[in-house]
Amino acid sequence: MSNCVFCKIIKGEIPCSKIYEDDRFLCFLDIMPINKGHTLIVPKEHHETVLDMPADLLKNMFVLAKKISKAVMDGTDADGFNIGINSYEAAGQVVMHMHLHIIPRFKDDGLKSWANKQYSEGEEAEMAEKIKSKL
Ligand code: 5GP
Ligand code: ZN
Repeated sequence: MSNCVFCKIIKGEIPCSKIYEDDRFLCFLDIMPINKGHTLIVPKEHHETVLDMPADLLKNMFVLAKKISKAVMDGTDADGFNIGINSYEAAGQVVMHMHLHIIPRFKDDGLKSWANKQYSEGEEAEMAEKIKSKL
């Protein structure tokens, strides 16, 4: 993908602060971290979203996420971490090359969780049925 910033990083055309590399994945620091140490896990193959990823690659990515998350936590002295995937523009995906965010979290980092919504009477069961019908 000639116009993809992550493909360019993978090809070495744009520099990055590399954390880890193997034949299938490249991990590097996010240039605009939510907290310092925020790391991206990027498959070398270009797939737009998690829904486009082959199952085998996805499995490997989550096994790698465990290893990288531990290193991020230990390397930043974090109290916890978030693993995130933004999928499609509506969910905040900016780089259309699927990637995982590993974000170190600190007790006093001031980041807020997402706001919650409430279901009206009967709506929760109806929603569960709608989703189940698509499996
Ligand atoms: P998204 O919103 O697509 O899930 O996240 C894309 C992430 O890639 C953002 O957090 C952004 O800071 C990061 N990013 C975008 N361009 C570059 C770049 O050229 N180098 C690095 N290291 N990170 C980038
Ligand atoms: Zn790409």
